Amino acid sequence: MISSISDYHQIFQTVTVLGSTGSIGASTLDVLSQHPDKFSVFALTADKSVDILFEQCRYFTPRYAVMRDERAANLLRQQLSAISCKTEVLSGEQALIDVAKDPEVDSVMAAIMGAAGLLPTLAAVNSGKKVLLANKESLVMAGKLFMDAVLACGARLLPIDSEHNALFQCLPLNSGGSVNTTVNSTMLNAQTKKTIRKVLLTGSGGPFRNWSLDDIDQASPEQACNHPNWSMGQKISVDSATLMNKGLEFIEARWLFDLAPKDIQVVIHPQSIIHSMVEYVDGSVLAQLGHPDMRTPIAHALAWPDRIEAGVPSLDWVAMAQLDFEAPDLNRFPALSLAIEAASSGSGAPVVLNAANEVAVSAFLRGQISFGGITYLLKEIMSTLDFREPGTIDDVLHLDLMARKSTQELIKVANTKISVKKASGTK
Ligand code: NAD
Ligand code: MG
Repeated sequence: MISSISDYHQIFQTVTVLGSTGSIGASTLDVLSQHPDKFSVFALTADKSVDILFEQCRYFTPRYAVMRDERAANLLRQQLSAISCKTEVLSGEQALIDVAKDPEVDSVMAAIMGAAGLLPTLAAVNSGKKVLLANKESLVMAGKLFMDAVLACGARLLPIDSEHNALFQCLPLNSGGSVNTTVNSTMLNAQTKKTIRKVLLTGSGGPFRNWSLDDIDQASPEQACNHPNWSMGQKISVDSATLMNKGLEFIEARWLFDLAPKDIQVVIHPQSIIHSMVEYVDGSVLAQLGHPDMRTPIAHALAWPDRIEAGVPSLDWVAMAQLDFEAPDLNRFPALSLAIEAASSGSGAPVVLNAANEVAVSAFLRGQISFGGITYLLKEIMSTLDFREPGTIDDVLHLDLMARKSTQELIKVANTKISVKKASGTK
């Protein structure tokens, strides 16, 4: 049982990678493959990408491979048995939870996309694992309940989101945890809080940073997914284009470090070299810099408090030459304002915003609504949906479902209006 920071030094870790076929999953496996002497893979999981999971199983031979989708699991089982691979294939949501909390697992990379990551990530937290948190949506949704579980169960939470990982690196080691809580929390203790003026969350500004509002409104899924600096999954790419990603990260930072929203400032930094900063009361600003490559925060969290090679090259200071900064434009990117408002208005608003955003982004990617339609829907839902503050994880899931249904209804109504207008020849 790991109980103090020194116990984390140089231990061999057995790792479950939730969402191994995605962008973060692939970067995680890249780092793990560089250190077979330090890590072994216990389980790999995916929604339904059989071919990628097959290749990953062939390379790592984990004890388990989990597919959420039953039919995909059957297919994978057949393919692995044809090459006599010993990996056992499981399926369904409970299996995702089981491989996250298995007693043989030391560390869990939480890299499922969206709200689907909440229960498996919480299972890892509740079993006191070292949890590498990429799935920001679970913290956005469950906020205080999630952090309470981290404290109560002695889990070690390490941020993977590059901004939060940067902040974690710029904060004093072991600043979290008061006398009454465990040393494992990222939450700042009262003493450290007194020394901090604010944290600065940097963001590239996304692919539409210099676009006019009209052009942004009509952007295509292909344009929205074409991020200038980072290569990521589709949902987070669209979130980066609306700046909702920065908004979700604002809420994530608020809970992860127990910060007041007024102490978090978003700064646009188009080069994505500075990944975030902490400003102290003496005027010092500590920043973490590096290439926009997720293998850096992943390697940092996997090895923490040690350091390991990530496969990321050195920064070329001369070629880099210039680092720029500007304020976010909340007029052209209103999703960021909605998230900052949600961060300050109880625990229900972030759940609703996150659920509505997932439905809206998926409708946009399917061509059902325009890019501008995403923030239109979010504004509508946030101003009209009536709900009670969730007090338990069941309440969170219930509210999430309700917000999803309402957003889907709104999409239907909006699309009907549009087709009626088209049919009657009006614009
Ligand atoms: P992705 O879409 O590339 O991959 C998502 C993974 O989750 C895949 O393995 C997919 O099979 C799995 N998955 C999707 N839906 C599922 C479901 N219903 N049940 C089980 N598994 C499911 O996404 P990504 O870009 O790797 O992002 C993953 C998470 O990490 C997100 O929460 C994102 O916000 C966060 N994150 C990503 C980056 C990045 O650079 N990609 C950076 C910071 C944070
Ligand atoms: Mg990020």
